[in-house]
Amino acid sequence: MQALKVAMLGCGVVGTEVAARIQNRNEALAERIGAPLELSAIVVRDTSKQRPGIDPSLLTTDAETAIAGADIVIELMGGIEPAKTLIRSALDHGSSVVTANKALLAANYGELMSAADTAGVRLEHEAAVAGAIPIIRPVGDSLAGDRIDRIMGIVNGTTNYILDQMDSEGWGFDEALRTAQELGFAEADPTADVGGHDAAAKAAILASLAFHAPVTIDDVHVEGIAGITPDMVATARDQGFVIKLLAVCERVSDSSAGAGLSARVYPALLGRSHPLATVRGAFNAVFIEAEAAGSLMFYGQGAGGEPTASAVLGDIVSVARRKVLGGRGQYERPFHKDSTILPISAITTRYHITLDVVDRPGVLAAVSEVFSDEGASIELMRQTVGETDDQGTQHAKLVLATHSNTDAILRGTVERLGGLSVVRAVKSVIRVEGQAQ
Ligand code: NAP
Repeated sequence: MQALKVAMLGCGVVGTEVAARIQNRNEALAERIGAPLELSAIVVRDTSKQRPGIDPSLLTTDAETAIAGADIVIELMGGIEPAKTLIRSALDHGSSVVTANKALLAANYGELMSAADTAGVRLEHEAAVAGAIPIIRPVGDSLAGDRIDRIMGIVNGTTNYILDQMDSEGWGFDEALRTAQELGFAEADPTADVGGHDAAAKAAILASLAFHAPVTIDDVHVEGIAGITPDMVATARDQGFVIKLLAVCERVSDSSAGAGLSARVYPALLGRSHPLATVRGAFNAVFIEAEAAGSLMFYGQGAGGEPTASAVLGDIVSVARRKVLGGRGQYERPFHKDSTILPISAITTRYHITLDVVDRPGVLAAVSEVFSDEGASIELMRQTVGETDDQGTQHAKLVLATHSNTDAILRGTVERLGGLSVVRAVKSVIRVEGQAQ
């Protein structure tokens, strides 16, 4: 069988590992595909850069020519442009595309999947969510006959490493972030990770795929972890919780705004017995609840050149096999549901609230009155004696766990608590997922 020509756009952390495996494992790959792969061009910005293990004659800055001569295009350059234009061009040429570009897909998933469908080719993207962990194919194919109700994932290794070190070593946020940067888990500019935006891109992709509706990153409610303090982590531990940055995608039938979809990313308390609570270090995991399958968990390395290359190679084998067999590309119109994206205010949740209060009679009654006025209720209240301040006033730490209510009602309750004269400060507010042990 004639070799299949593969053009690679980008040769950085992931691309270098993908190119090495196409070259070094070609025989094994050919057995699985039914034809050998031939790396025909590698598009980069700077062709003079030293790239050990890469054949310099393949390097080019001419992406259009590289795409025109290819059977399969692998996009590993990242960013929105020129990646988007080049992927569109490859699809229009009738080439299937493999990409790891979560930022691009989170903004343009519907458009790009429809373009692949129209062209009768595939746009594979297993590496765009949770690196090496097979999650796109299980959600899109294996569970296609089931109904996915909820996905909850730890999909950003940097933030999981930071929160895990704060929990297990008692480190502060800055120390944990600095160490993550030194170990290569965090970028020099950690904003996308720490701010939750990287996880939000993955949530948008997972929600789109799981619920057959176009969900973009703009639909995802995002809160990052920069405000998490050692005190919050210690309080969580005392109560049988761990704090994790969670991406939650779910179908909601009974929100205060009616039925619809919710996609959100925020740090939350998770009961320590929940499977996701055991995910340590920079690892990722995705927990799925489906109607017939029940609970499923997928766990592994969510980033890094080699793990991500594994997912990219899997996609390459898949599209190459299809090319050899002459099969059609996309198998379904990706988005046939026109669903409402629900605002966070309408979502039912639970809060853990920590207040710094004046330690005197009547405080608990004042706090309880606010809850009752707002239509919220307290599941648990725990008070510990705090410090005496410079004016000789005795303080207490009051930890409140709420029953489930809408985010809007709980937010309103916290605002009113902050205005009470007996409340010196609202020290922390964090949502809860899962039960304490
Ligand atoms: P990277 O190390 O920054 O490499 C990017 C590559 O693309 C470089 O070779 C660069 O060329 C080339 N490139 C960038 N802009 C270009 C342009 N305008 N024209 C031509 N070439 C261009 O990126 P990466 O970490 O490998 O990530 C690649 C993709 O994989 C991204 O979408 C990322 O989100 C995704 N991903 C990465 C990981 C990971 O662990 N790194 C995990 C999952 C997904 P030069 O070499 O000449 O600069």
